[in-house]
Amino acid sequence: MAQAQRERAVVIGLEVHVQLETDTKIFCDCSTEPAEEPNTQTCPVCLGLPGALPVLNEAAVEAAVKVGTALDATIPEETRFHRKNYYYPDLPKNFQITQYDEPICQDGRLEFSVEGERRAVGIRRAHLEEDPGSLRHRGGSIDTADYTLVDYNRAGVPLMEVVTEPDFRGPDEVRAFLSKLEEVLEYLGVFDASRDGSLRIDANLSIVETDGDGEIDTAQLDAANRTEVKNISSHKGAQKALAYEAQRQKNAIKRGKEIQQETRHWDESRGITVSMRSKEAEKDYRYFPEADLPPLQVSDWKSRIEIPELPDARRERFRQEYDLSVEAADKLTSTKQVADFYEGVAGEFDPTLAATWVADELLGELNYRDMLITDIEDRLDDVTRLVELVAENQITVKNAREVVLRGMLDEGRDPDAIVDEEGLGKTGGDEVQTAVQQAIEENPDAVADYRAGESGALNFLVGQVMQATGGSADPADVNELLRERL
Ligand code: ADP
Ligand code: MG
Ligand code: ZN
Repeated sequence: MAQAQRERAVVIGLEVHVQLETDTKIFCDCSTEPAEEPNTQTCPVCLGLPGALPVLNEAAVEAAVKVGTALDATIPEETRFHRKNYYYPDLPKNFQITQYDEPICQDGRLEFSVEGERRAVGIRRAHLEEDPGSLRHRGGSIDTADYTLVDYNRAGVPLMEVVTEPDFRGPDEVRAFLSKLEEVLEYLGVFDASRDGSLRIDANLSIVETDGDGEIDTAQLDAANRTEVKNISSHKGAQKALAYEAQRQKNAIKRGKEIQQETRHWDESRGITVSMRSKEAEKDYRYFPEADLPPLQVSDWKSRIEIPELPDARRERFRQEYDLSVEAADKLTSTKQVADFYEGVAGEFDPTLAATWVADELLGELNYRDMLITDIEDRLDDVTRLVELVAENQITVKNAREVVLRGMLDEGRDPDAIVDEEGLGKTGGDEVQTAVQQAIEENPDAVADYRAGESGALNFLVGQVMQATGGSADPADVNELLRERL
């Protein structure tokens, strides 16, 4: 008898480690700036020398409270630190100071959009911990290297580990969530995505049977054997690793094999996950309270911190206040810096024109050059001036885009200088503008023909403008101007 086909769903839960942007480490005064030389930003505390005592960095707590608030999490009155014990060369003290059963944030949620649909994922907890050091394997990978170097500059850098509920139903959702999480963290000013190693992801994946309605009950979730994929460091990496892992598990199930509960390593260069250790071999971390740090009273911090306008709220306000489309508002709030830049230009001008110039032209040209808005933050005045030149019809859109904007970005010149030096205003803006307007008003038939698709009609109108300006206008500019107006 053929067995009925059971419905199955991919279930994913994440443990995301984010580096909190602070000047100094979480338990000592060492700098968190990346250093050229290994082991130059260390001290007895972050090297775990006997007798050295940790002192909690307030900036890290403040950042954690901000994150918790932005994630709608519960922040308890009191939180505490624990020691997680294990032996590994990247861990000089042989234990990591982290949080265990009393994390600083619990029960949060984060909303995000995926393919136009709104989704929300539960945040089980988010806690503070210190980063271990970093290992450099020489002459091979982790299992084949000739020798390994260790650098403790990272040891003690503040991290926040954000643990989600197993609410994801596919790799695309994970990618969208990670973008949103990063966006929120950057808006809070506690995270720098461009920093190496600032985001590290462990992803748990299982294939779970669903009931008739595609629902999954908790018992099924807990019973499912899952794998934990480690060593993921980007959104795209997460999506690829999880797509691979989902397929690998589906194939195994199809062949009648049982999924082993295990830790797997994402091998980015080969695009596969490989088994590292089984659940049975998982270490017992012997957590116990960190006696060198007293319990932390967090309740007073909550009222002290300020939360800036977050991406969703800013997006909505942009739509209302500046009358922007959903797409334009999304683009213009993609980072806090872009949003600030846009508001800088929009404050001087027609917000719609400013939106076109920042969202379409400027971001497009920056992207093409692999530049970020932060690279031109000090040029707000120049961009504003460029939009002004267009708004006042002093230059054509084509010249603004192809000559002025590109000259500004490639050569760092200022827009007025470019207009002067390239003679872009040479057609005596106003006179040509007037002639163009006149030609349109006086030749409704030609305009109608052109709009009906007769391109010859445009030549006629160009001729009219040339005549009216006594031939002083540039036919190409006139052509362009007419097209814009029509
Ligand atoms: P552990 O106690 O082994 O660390 P937790 O229950 O704390 O496991 O969960 C760790 C992570 O595993 C969380 O991100 C959670 O969302 C995820 N997770 C739990 N159950 C599943 C499942 N069935 N499939 C995928 N991920 C899961
Ligand atoms: Mg963990
Ligand atoms: Zn130190």
